[in-house]
Amino acid sequence: MTIYADNAATTPLCDAAYDAMTAAMRDCWANPSSPHRAGQEAARRLLLARRTIAACLGCQPQEVYFTSGGTEADNWALISAAREGAKHGKRRLVASAIEHHAVLHTLESLRRDGFDYTLIPVGSDGIVQPEALERVLSADTAVVSVMCANNETGVMQPLEELAALCRKRGIVFHTDAVQAAGHVPLSFSALGCDMMSVSAHKFYGPKGIGALCRRMTTPLHPLLFGGGQERGMRPSTENVAAAEGMAAALEYSCSHMREHSAYTAELRDRLIAGVRERIPDAVLCGTENSASRLPGTACFCFPKISGEALALTLSMAGIYVSSGAACTTGTDAVSHVLTAMGIPERLAAGAVRFSLDRRNTPDEIDRILTTLPEAVEKLRRR
Ligand code: PLP
Repeated sequence: MTIYADNAATTPLCDAAYDAMTAAMRDCWANPSSPHRAGQEAARRLLLARRTIAACLGCQPQEVYFTSGGTEADNWALISAAREGAKHGKRRLVASAIEHHAVLHTLESLRRDGFDYTLIPVGSDGIVQPEALERVLSADTAVVSVMCANNETGVMQPLEELAALCRKRGIVFHTDAVQAAGHVPLSFSALGCDMMSVSAHKFYGPKGIGALCRRMTTPLHPLLFGGGQERGMRPSTENVAAAEGMAAALEYSCSHMREHSAYTAELRDRLIAGVRERIPDAVLCGTENSASRLPGTACFCFPKISGEALALTLSMAGIYVSSGAACTTGTDAVSHVLTAMGIPERLAAGAVRFSLDRRNTPDEIDRILTTLPEAVEKLRRR
């Protein structure tokens, strides 16, 4: 039997999403922009999906814009804020040093277009301190982007405080909530963010759909041009089945959040304690404060071995984890997240991320704890 411990990379569809999507693909395939009855039914179901997603994320339905996933939402938020900033002579973009590449590579692209960016440093705990943000803000800052929870370490950020600092200065604040949505309580309006990205496949919904939440008073510039879908901001015929699947998955995740997160956090802590006992030189990446960590995620650096080799060895034993972020696997790049936290490159090269969920069991954790030390030993002997 295999053990899937890579839920930060993606999650399988939950039954509610699967049922909603198959029903929609079979019965509700008309174009929501068509004026006939079938089209209007598709438009109605899209609206219901939008309402459910908005209720789960603590925002208004008209603040939700469907996208092709988290990457597009991150690109859109930053490019839009940069364009708006440029209109007012603000060309500085700010993000934390531990953002996903969907944010960091967008900043690089904007730099080639004449913008400049500053990265906010983090401490060894992986947390962005409000004072560190304050130090880099200036009169020409157009936007600040700090993720809700990091995809490699699972460490969560003090978003309310960071957003308040930006709000006070009239600076747009965006958060990438791709890892957090559906797993920890999240309210767009209560956080005080201007924009927020989410992605359905991280909370048991389908791949290829996500959303950008945008406060109505925050200017938004479209990236795509075409029809009038998504209030003219994101043209292309809507994927009603995916939107319904996303809504069903988010509703499922949010309604079971309390029990799932308590259960998963126990497994995570059993894993952390067990790894420390059996492999004393393993280094847990990020804060020791479990309240500041996603319930399912724990990343360790194992000295003197390659994380990629360890992930492969575990895979051969039927245990699926990832070495760093899934989307950089195979690139040989040492994690920018771990090095930003002050972890030396040689140690960061031995990083492996375990990301658990409610389907994992204590027995599986024990199997990981038996297999892992043997795998580490074997690689060290090579
Ligand atoms: N942001 C974070 C923090 C992520 O973990 C990911 C995916 O791994 C993304 C953005 C990209 O999301 P998507 O795969 O939906 O484009």
